Amino acid sequence: MYRTHNCGALRIEDVGKEVTLSGWLQASRDFGGMTFIDLRDRYGITQLVFNAEDNNELAERAQKLGREFVLKVEGRVRERSNKNPNRPTGDIEIEVHTLSILNESKVPPFTIEDDTDGGDDLRMKYRYLDIRRAPVKESLIFRSKLAIETRKYLSEQNFVEVETPVLIKSTPEGARDFVVPSRMNPGQFYALPQSPQTFKQILMVAGMDRYFQIVKCFRDEDLRADRQPEFTQIDCEMAFVTQEEILNTFEGLTKHLFKSMKGIELPDFPRMDYDEAIRLYGSDKPDLRFGMQFVELNDVAKGKDFSVFNNAELIVGICAEGQAETYSNKDIKKLTEWMQRPQIGAKGLVYVKVNADGTFKSSVGKFYDDADLKIWADKFGAKAGDMLLILSGEAEKTRKQLNELRLEMGRRMDLIQEGDFKPLWVIDFPLLEWDEESERFHAMHHPFTSPKKEDVPRMLTGDHETMKSLRADAYDLVINGAEIGGGSIRIHDRALQSRNFDLLGFSKEEALAQFGFLLGAFEYGAPPHGGIAFGFDRLCAVMNGQSSIRDYIAFPKNNQGRDMMIDAPASIDQTQLDELRIDLQKEMSS
Ligand code: ASP
Repeated sequence: MYRTHNCGALRIEDVGKEVTLSGWLQASRDFGGMTFIDLRDRYGITQLVFNAEDNNELAERAQKLGREFVLKVEGRVRERSNKNPNRPTGDIEIEVHTLSILNESKVPPFTIEDDTDGGDDLRMKYRYLDIRRAPVKESLIFRSKLAIETRKYLSEQNFVEVETPVLIKSTPEGARDFVVPSRMNPGQFYALPQSPQTFKQILMVAGMDRYFQIVKCFRDEDLRADRQPEFTQIDCEMAFVTQEEILNTFEGLTKHLFKSMKGIELPDFPRMDYDEAIRLYGSDKPDLRFGMQFVELNDVAKGKDFSVFNNAELIVGICAEGQAETYSNKDIKKLTEWMQRPQIGAKGLVYVKVNADGTFKSSVGKFYDDADLKIWADKFGAKAGDMLLILSGEAEKTRKQLNELRLEMGRRMDLIQEGDFKPLWVIDFPLLEWDEESERFHAMHHPFTSPKKEDVPRMLTGDHETMKSLRADAYDLVINGAEIGGGSIRIHDRALQSRNFDLLGFSKEEALAQFGFLLGAFEYGAPPHGGIAFGFDRLCAVMNGQSSIRDYIAFPKNNQGRDMMIDAPASIDQTQLDELRIDLQKEMSS
């Protein structure tokens, strides 16, 4: 037998017991005739002690063991004289009388500790060592429990988990597809699903009524800390529902997950329409953990001699409370440079400080006197000691830039409280988005999203400008500024779906070739339906206040899309290429 207990189990009540433990050597310390070893497994760490006075030969063997050796020990539990209150097993230790080495280990390339000295790629290459570290291990356990709670909640709500295929045809979520060549159909390719979108809609036509799946999705996009080429969704669809019922159902799921996983009771989620989110925060995923809403100054700042403002489509700012004294001229210059970096691209930054005596200090003081600036300050509700930060220019760009500034000021001013969760439904997204570059409409969500009922007549007959103003029954769940989920009510009428494909620039033939199966299904009694998908990896990260999703994925890829452990992607041998009728020579030269 390898163990009677795990390394996290023993307590003071167990003193006197004969036990067998197995695990990895975390650390060892020699004090004269005493050797202490921390033995670790998934459940915890237990201290072992070897006393040279009792058994010299055993103590000498213990001293020679290296880090990460796999050991099995037998011994007696005894009370520690020197207790460790930070460890659940800290009251006891094992007086070892039998030691077996189950396996040796090379010296690990980084330390197996909560804070490790391993860089990302090294950690990923030796992910089996990385996962031995408590924070990564705990993240994976959290993920497993979150999936179980999700399944529990949704199945209680009558949802059925249905698996949809992985080898499919292109799905239009707006990213590139990963493709897989078909040996049996030379020259043809499967695409990996960007989401099971069309399948879950087909399941509604099939009468499944409530579907969910915890499912891998694949998108060939540029990677960031919160993005992976393969990621997991909690994907859901319901028939005979309104937007209201979907929001309530998934608000219920989210509340259940926070309650069961973190003991947090979330209050009802506020809702904000897309236009308002953009106007007040410059983002469709505002972080509501702090205020600093945008205030527009067009009506009060134009008409003086300051041509930058006079020529701007939008003049908009935020009020950084109590920062007037904190920011010297030099600090403001640095902040301006930060805003001017190409990643943000602001042209400049105007500040107005409200002095203690009610006068003002401003970078545009030449153009605006104190009476003018007082009007601005009042619009922000600014008081003595506050500082206004103002941007101007083309509306959309300026709002995006100010969003970055707001988030940065929120961080600098320490406005974000750890453990605070601020969920929000953003609703009423536009249906279509005009893309200047390709001169085409894109679906803001995806091509199956339904316009609002009242907008259907305008969608069927309206002109180009009208299309830009159509609203959709589309919604996102945002928590702490991260998009956690998104979905919509779908079109279930063939003619309306065809019209949407027209607007998106699909020819009749293209629409039929790509989505004929769905259009066909709509002719056999498609019920009204809608759904949502949660980004499961991101939900894990956000619930734990983390910005990176990587540690919630057992074997993630790096920023180049590589799996550093198995070294993928990799070339394949000529026989495989021949079978697939792929001629690399030809591909490379063409
Ligand atoms: N398929 C959508 C997505 O992946 C979610 C949905 O509309 O239900 O974002």
